[in-house]
Amino acid sequence: MKRKRNAFLQVFKYKKNKDIQYIQIDNISVEVRKKNIRNLHLRVDSPEGSVRISAPAKMDLDIIRDFAVSKLGWIKKHQARLKTRVREVTKEFISGESHFYLGEPYRLNVIERNQPSKVILKQEILELYVRPNTGVKKRREILNDWYRQRLKEFIPGLIDIYETKMKIKVSGFGVKKMKTRWGSCNIKAKRIWLNLVLAKKSKECIEYIVVHEMAHFLERFHNERFTAFMDTFLPGWRIIQEELNKLPICHED
Ligand SMILES: [Zn+2]
Repeated sequence: MKRKRNAFLQVFKYKKNKDIQYIQIDNISVEVRKKNIRNLHLRVDSPEGSVRISAPAKMDLDIIRDFAVSKLGWIKKHQARLKTRVREVTKEFISGESHFYLGEPYRLNVIERNQPSKVILKQEILELYVRPNTGVKKRREILNDWYRQRLKEFIPGLIDIYETKMKIKVSGFGVKKMKTRWGSCNIKAKRIWLNLVLAKKSKECIEYIVVHEMAHFLERFHNERFTAFMDTFLPGWRIIQEELNKLPICHED
């Protein structure tokens, strides 16, 4: 009983606080806090994607609203990214969950049995065979190993095609987990690295990153010359880049 009363008091106190106001834009509730500051600050908080603006104490609410509206695209993009990240982090690797492979969703079906683990791709179903009592971490590892293997099978063919088209040689490639990039390259060693997460994206996305990294062998920087190479070797690259930019890991250098 006592606890309930305290909770009530807290809410009451909160609502009474005149320094906090809420504005609504496009179904998004934006918390506005007036402070003794000079400029407007906007942030989207993790993990739930709530939007907050800190504003100078005397600033008119209409100006703050205009500012929020002008940043709507940015807000939505960040909220979408957070949502994807939360979904990825909270994956439990249990039957019924949706997992992507080459841009398509598959229903995970976990089968426990006392034999070495394996993953089998069936129509719309990803079968994950594990020993009884295999935890989340291990299940993720098994699936990641499978993703890595699939990429390692898929990528050499792509490299072959573009080595001929671009008249360059790739000495080797690797697949690894990267937090902020889809791919990277070592121009001197003529090696490229691809993000393991690409196994979940469409074949076009994988192709784009491979070509992008290989194009760096011809031009180090993202300049006009680089863009011209991309236009020559993969004319539709801009659309694919846009698709990838909507997803959480977006830098591909
Ligand atoms: Zn790049």
